[in-house]
Amino acid sequence: MLGFSACASHPYALSQRSYRKQARVFAQTLRSQTVQSFTDSSGRAIPSAWVGTVNFNLRKPNYVIIHHTAQQSVEQTLKTFTTEKSQVSAHYLVGKDGKIYQLLNDYLRAWHGGVSKWGNITDINSVSIGIEIDNNGLDPFTEEQIAGLLALLGQLKMTYNIPAANFIAHADIAPSRKVDPQVLFPWRKLAERGFGLMPDTLIVESAPADFNPIQALRVIGYDTKDLPAAIRAFKRHFLGKEENADWTAEAIDALYNLYCKY
Ligand SMILES: [Zn+2]
Repeated sequence: MLGFSACASHPYALSQRSYRKQARVFAQTLRSQTVQSFTDSSGRAIPSAWVGTVNFNLRKPNYVIIHHTAQQSVEQTLKTFTTEKSQVSAHYLVGKDGKIYQLLNDYLRAWHGGVSKWGNITDINSVSIGIEIDNNGLDPFTEEQIAGLLALLGQLKMTYNIPAANFIAHADIAPSRKVDPQVLFPWRKLAERGFGLMPDTLIVESAPADFNPIQALRVIGYDTKDLPAAIRAFKRHFLGKEENADWTAEAIDALYNLYCKY
């Protein structure tokens, strides 16, 4: 916990104030009981009324998108996420020492996905929690960092009942633009705890002759419009290999094995 006070000398005092102000505006939006006006095709007003139901709660995130920051330090990333002109954010940031920074309430929409697609979902930010891992894109992730991440994922999975298959990479939802988290990210360690699916370590059954790998990528969620990018993202995440987009026997068999879990 950062434990910021209102002290004006604190580097994040201004962004904290801005957060509270924006949250107040959203609270007003939630309380509003005004109904829209509607018109028919001839421009005549259609009657409408507001009647508040008593049965509701907040919408919940159903996906977790994992990123690496591609920056040099937690401080640099905190600065990016608290500066308006960057127009990017995430719900959480995990430091190399395992410390977890929360930047946004889970129920609010962070700006971490950008233009992205997974299955038929085109507004990933609206349905997901974004988690940034402090990593420059080259160095290995630290043990403390992964321990912190696992604790955070456990909490999110339990609170929002997020299915195992819905813990995915930024590169999975934006394969043409993104490569994060980089190839050293320990997806298998996560999958062992129920965060993400992975092909079996030992694959005993080869893909059948009529297996269609492009369809399988789509079933898993990939947008295959840029097929080479989707194949590279698949290999990075599910084979732990940063390589070209050629279909190898290993890739096909692993994809078939994974596809059967969906
Ligand atoms: Zn990212």
